[in-house]
Amino acid sequence: MNITYNILYTKKAIQSGVVSLVTDEEKKHKIRLIEEKLKEKECKLTPQRRATLNVLIENQSKHLSTEEIYDLVKDKFPDIGLATIYRTLQLFDDFDIIKKLNFNDGCYRYELSEDQRHQHHHLLCLKCGNVYEFDDDLLDELEHKIHKNSAFAVTDHMVKFFGYCKECQNTK
Ligand SMILES: [Zn+2]
Ligand SMILES: [Zn+2]
Ligand SMILES: [Zn+2]
Repeated sequence: MNITYNILYTKKAIQSGVVSLVTDEEKKHKIRLIEEKLKEKECKLTPQRRATLNVLIENQSKHLSTEEIYDLVKDKFPDIGLATIYRTLQLFDDFDIIKKLNFNDGCYRYELSEDQRHQHHHLLCLKCGNVYEFDDDLLDELEHKIHKNSAFAVTDHMVKFFGYCKECQNTK
């Protein structure tokens, strides 16, 4: 099955602020925080890393693959190699600046981590391949139950929802 994953902004995601057009001010602020985070571990935000970060911030919710990120960074740094992008994404992942996503379409995709907040979940349509973001988290109760029944202290969870989006249900 060859699915191309496009992005659709659900109304809900826009309202909840998951999808927002970042202003220059917000972008600068975000970059400054990340720069400090790296600095604490004596890591530098080099111009190439900064350009990669910019692409991720400007394309939040698009769930870009490594190649797509590479193509966009190349606009600014024509000489940059794919290996550098790989290493940069690995570094950002190690610092929990980004989240690595697997939508079962043969590549990893990335999005910025939501600082302080629990990362939103993804709804994957099996027909059109669109990925929707879903921000409501109804799993707290389940985590409580697990703790109660198994004495296991859950600190995080990863969930993917598969099914059919509204449009695809109507055309079935
Ligand atoms: Zn997402
Ligand atoms: Zn669909
Ligand atoms: Zn959750």
